[in-house]
Amino acid sequence: MQKPHEKIWNSCLAIIKDNVSLQSYKTWFDPIRSIKLKDSVLTIQVPSQFFYEWLEEHYITLLKKTIKKELGNDGKLEYSIIMENNMNSSKPYTVKIPSTHRNALRNPSIPMPVDIGNKTIKNPFIIPGLKKINVDSQLNPSYSFENYIEGDCNRLARSAGFAVANKPGGTAFNPLLIYGGVGLGKTHLAHSIGIEIKNTHPSKIVLYVSSEKFATQYIDSVRNNTTNDFKHFYQMLDVLIIDDVQFFAGKEKTQDIFFHIFNHLHQTGKQIILTSDKPPVEMQGVEQRLLSRFKWGLSADLQVPDLETRIAILQKKMYSEGIELPKDVTEYLAYSITTNIRELEGALISLIAQASLNKKAVTIELAKQMIDKFVKNTAREVSIDYIQKVVCDYFDLPIELLKSKTRKREVVQARQIAMYFAKQMTKSSLANIGAHCGGKDHATVLHACKTVNNLMDTDKRFKSYITDLEKKISIQ
Ligand code: ADP
Ligand code: MG
Repeated sequence: MQKPHEKIWNSCLAIIKDNVSLQSYKTWFDPIRSIKLKDSVLTIQVPSQFFYEWLEEHYITLLKKTIKKELGNDGKLEYSIIMENNMNSSKPYTVKIPSTHRNALRNPSIPMPVDIGNKTIKNPFIIPGLKKINVDSQLNPSYSFENYIEGDCNRLARSAGFAVANKPGGTAFNPLLIYGGVGLGKTHLAHSIGIEIKNTHPSKIVLYVSSEKFATQYIDSVRNNTTNDFKHFYQMLDVLIIDDVQFFAGKEKTQDIFFHIFNHLHQTGKQIILTSDKPPVEMQGVEQRLLSRFKWGLSADLQVPDLETRIAILQKKMYSEGIELPKDVTEYLAYSITTNIRELEGALISLIAQASLNKKAVTIELAKQMIDKFVKNTAREVSIDYIQKVVCDYFDLPIELLKSKTRKREVVQARQIAMYFAKQMTKSSLANIGAHCGGKDHATVLHACKTVNNLMDTDKRFKSYITDLEKKISIQ
């Protein structure tokens, strides 16, 4: 039979599951156990201090809301932490959750409470009771330019964003449309621009809003007969940032009101910043008159970051979270996760959580296991780059040499070995492998594979190199 605390916690988990990604759920919530429920205080056991801190830092708002929903207004949560490196680890100690937490309202993805007292506010973004109209910009301070690593993948978008931030409404980039695939940094960059504008032009009224929220607010305003207020509120802004405008597709009425707001802002020299997962030409279900306006300013795209940028992003993230990882582990992550930055950060965080959960040091082995377990659905095939790196490390050669055309004997052999593993372990074509390894053609790669096979049969030492390398490269 389920105990009452288990039942409550299971209901909480069901809500949490709907509000976080599967990976975050597995990482942070699966390992939690509920222990008791007394006087509306639910106690949950978390595996380490690190878990506790992470939950407090990143999930406090969600946890609070969930507890409130399940246990009513008096509901409280307490943690019991299994202490690390402690012989009596079965004797957990308890920390009470602070009632107000500095980060409680930081996560912009969680809707903020809008009913303040029993006053009804016409627009949820306006803080009532202040003389001068004061709009909460809804910006997330951690999404700053400072935290936004520059790379070839984002140079144009970033510098256009910077230009816009310095002279909002005063450049040719109006609107500025940032587009690119999921997890590539559109939302972050959009916030950075807003934050920078608030820093340099504190009097400007800036608002960040997702297209979904905009659409919902509009629908509410229709229901409450306050569409004029809605429109006036948006027309009064100096800078309007709308995230993920592709969601306007098919919503004709919303597009219509947005069209009017857009025109008003543009005509009065106000800045508009938009993000989208595709360029205007590919946005289906969005009216032509809007699309043509999207193209008035500048459309800048975000690409998948290259290896150096991925490493730099990981380092920045670790620095800001105050965590440290061995260099080879960071590199391993950056080499293996090439899809997008959100996946990359997710893997980093899961790894730290795993290490903390199992009280193990973060090693390359753990990283390999974790990637296998948690990041299954991303393209985590070994990359040619990674193979080259491992081979070069093994023979103590600079990777540039391997990629060059040099015919030095030791380089030639390492290059052949890299080609051999690339053929074995990736789905790349012979031509592609050759292109990665010193611009060789497919025949050279084929020849390399034969040579390696022959040498393995005849040369014991060589064979042991290959076995060693195979272990180092393969993800398991
Ligand atoms: P998108 O909106 O394109 O789906 P996000 O802006 O949400 O992507 O970015 C996903 C994650 O990657 C965020 O945590 C963000 O901080 C991080 N990120 C993206 N680009 C960069 C970058 N250039 N430097 C540092 N972090 C980045
Ligand atoms: Mg986004």
